[in-house]
Amino acid sequence: MSDMFPFLDLAGINRRDEAALTEAFQRVLRSGWYVLGTEVAAFEAEYAAACGVAHAIGVGNGLDALTLILRGYRQLGRLAEGDEVILPDNSFVATALAVSEAGLTPVLVEPALDTFNIDPAAVEAAISPRTRAIIAVHLYGRLADMQRLRALADQHGLLLIEDAAQAHGAVDARGHAAGALGDAAGFSFFPVKNLGALGDAGALTTNDDALAEQVRKLRNYGSSRKYVHELQGINSRLDELQAALLRVKLARLADDAQARRDLAARYLAGIDNQHLQLPQVPHVSESHVWHQFVMRCEAREALQTHLERHGVPSLIHYPIPIHRQAAYAEFADRHLPLSQRLAGEVLSLPLYPGMANEWVEQTIEACNAFRV
Ligand SMILES: *Cc1c(COP(=O)(O)O)cnc(C)c1O
Repeated sequence: MSDMFPFLDLAGINRRDEAALTEAFQRVLRSGWYVLGTEVAAFEAEYAAACGVAHAIGVGNGLDALTLILRGYRQLGRLAEGDEVILPDNSFVATALAVSEAGLTPVLVEPALDTFNIDPAAVEAAISPRTRAIIAVHLYGRLADMQRLRALADQHGLLLIEDAAQAHGAVDARGHAAGALGDAAGFSFFPVKNLGALGDAGALTTNDDALAEQVRKLRNYGSSRKYVHELQGINSRLDELQAALLRVKLARLADDAQARRDLAARYLAGIDNQHLQLPQVPHVSESHVWHQFVMRCEAREALQTHLERHGVPSLIHYPIPIHRQAAYAEFADRHLPLSQRLAGEVLSLPLYPGMANEWVEQTIEACNAFRV
């Protein structure tokens, strides 16, 4: 096997901001205040503005952001134990874990093969008298069909929640950003995400003042005043250091998204092989921020081995659908053939800001040289 270039060069991505990140670190170090302070407040204000919403609330990670949205709605009486929440089967497991963690029942549905995103028709078919919410995942950085999902949610009186962990900065046809397209949204700033911290971090966004108030308490031991606990909350606070680092990185988000779109355009123009099905481009190019560039191939294993031999790394997002995870054995007999099929066919190519030109060419050539 020849030496492979990196699938994602996180050190390289963060090196671009080394001076500013170091300055931010020193500022926090010297402040003597490390959890929930001025850096977190400033980042929350900046991130809310970037998303075009009233509230952004920093939390420990993306899973907690989603869980706290659901727990917040339980506090408000909008959700109750055992209520059904519809979500796509072909997501990262965290989407389902948030539902379970909040004491609700996940209902897994099929994606659309052309967009990889939750299929509104499958959502409609899954709505029961117990359904109370839909979670739309903007998978691989492409916005889900929020207009159709909103119509369904309104028609049935459901909450519409975004799992925006892969879609920071994606914008729809009206110019509205991920995070502002549902009743509330959960973001992850795990290092590999399009907006990545230097550790675990997350946030949720909403225009709902009442939800924001509940979540601010829930993330901090159910307290809004020291040693006074109104709710049985958790400890999921964004720390000052990650907030300060994220403020530096947020300034690059729009340029990085454009860099990702440019790289995707090169792959789409350069890769031409009847065995590979390239990802579909949405009508509004800004509505895709290419967290992953995902192809489909029936001979996926052979393709991955072939790319490896040509020094091109690739990953599978995700090899096991949620309903086939041991953690969700209760759903093992669900009939979700499209999700199952995608799990067997998808392959992600390397794509990130600053990716060397020669690596892009090498990837295109290796893809075009693949024969079954
Ligand atoms: C990363 C991710 C999460 C979870 O985020 P963490 O910060 O790792 O908890 C949730 N949903 C999706 C779709 C993700 O990609």
